[in-house]
Amino acid sequence: MNILILGSGGREHALAWKIAQSPILNNLFVAPGNAGTDEIAENILISVNDFDSIKKVVLTKSVDMVLVGPEDPLVNGIHDFFLNDKELEDILVVGPQKLAATLEGSKEFAKEFMMRHNIPTAAYQSFGKDDLEKGYRFLESLTPPYVLKADGLAAGKGVLILNNLNEAKEELKTMLVDAKFGAASAKVVIEEFLDGIELSCFVLTDGTNYKILPEAKDYKRIGEGDTGLNTGGMGAISPVPFADRAFMDKVEERIVKPTIEGLKKDDIPYVGFIFIGLIKVAGEPKVIEYNVRMGDPETEVVIPRIKNDLVTVFESLKNQSLNEINLEIDDDRAAVTVMTVSGGYPETYEKGKEITGLENTNDSILFHAGTTKKEDKVVTNGGRVIAVTSYGESFKEALSTSYKSLNQFDFEGRYYRKDIGFDL
Ligand code: ATP
Repeated sequence: MNILILGSGGREHALAWKIAQSPILNNLFVAPGNAGTDEIAENILISVNDFDSIKKVVLTKSVDMVLVGPEDPLVNGIHDFFLNDKELEDILVVGPQKLAATLEGSKEFAKEFMMRHNIPTAAYQSFGKDDLEKGYRFLESLTPPYVLKADGLAAGKGVLILNNLNEAKEELKTMLVDAKFGAASAKVVIEEFLDGIELSCFVLTDGTNYKILPEAKDYKRIGEGDTGLNTGGMGAISPVPFADRAFMDKVEERIVKPTIEGLKKDDIPYVGFIFIGLIKVAGEPKVIEYNVRMGDPETEVVIPRIKNDLVTVFESLKNQSLNEINLEIDDDRAAVTVMTVSGGYPETYEKGKEITGLENTNDSILFHAGTTKKEDKVVTNGGRVIAVTSYGESFKEALSTSYKSLNQFDFEGRYYRKDIGFDL
């Protein structure tokens, strides 16, 4: 089995790390990959959105399976591209088609889907640029804080939570009329604020059957105490202590099952991961968002807790036999990851800093994100640089291992949060 993974983050390194352990793997390729994937796979320097180059790689390297890491190529229709090409149609693409990817690509589409299938979520209305006055009236009917969301993809920046009504109205106007987020804010979803604690649930589906993967909680803000600017994610833990069996049973019955059934009812084919952003409000789960791929850095704690051979699991997606897989989760071990980032991130930062001491970190698994090789040295190449994952009997024990490993390597200006899991 030859496999191509698309992407270059910690998520893709974690998937590559797991797939590289498969007894049925022959060759593993990652495009474009990073210095970490370079150690266990062949990196191919092409963009995840360059479908023609991806096709060439698939044909010349006899790739049997393509695993899509980030959302962009999915929203751009990579799965459809394969299905519509006679030479590619039989290759398994793990990641949904464009229509299903709209669950992530349009918040209005996702909200309408949830309403249609009775899936608990915040009350909402959506508005276009001709509905500004209606939008103002809706805001006046709500109590603060006000949640405004650009409909389309805005690199995680399109959600505003505001306490002041006038400010909320002003922002609504800037989003709709002045196109604050470009085409992404041609429509804006305004929704009820939900007060609770967030976690993420991950599902793998072949469109009919599903498996629930370990849940995780990530830490999005740059500052300790979850303060400051939003980032791609500064750390994660799995399992999540407050997601007990009773709560996860509710998630399965009220959210996962209706989601899979809803996709079928709506004739939306789906093969791949569903990432369900949840919030626990007074003990009850509600959906904040759907993503159509794994999360990053959650993958770096979810994947290490799965015992099965991932390639066998993926193969079962092809003939809709995921139900025949007995998914085994390591319930005895907690996993945590702490992300090291470049100084200045998520604002401006420098690249090209040499990372030293990587060979000393044997107690943890280092999943590379923004790294590359330069004359045989590993150097920084992005904002989020390396996710340091460890296991433990409890997440606190795992954390102390990650923090020890963090002391064993370094690069100029690096930063990481010292309080992952602080609130649990
Ligand atoms: P991401 O960066 O995770 O991709 P996104 O831009 O797709 O996010 P959402 O996940 O919908 O947008 O919202 C971002 C964050 O805003 C959520 O993780 C949550 O903390 C907060 N949020 C969103 N909707 C609500 C709500 N209705 N009530 C309270 N907080 C909310």
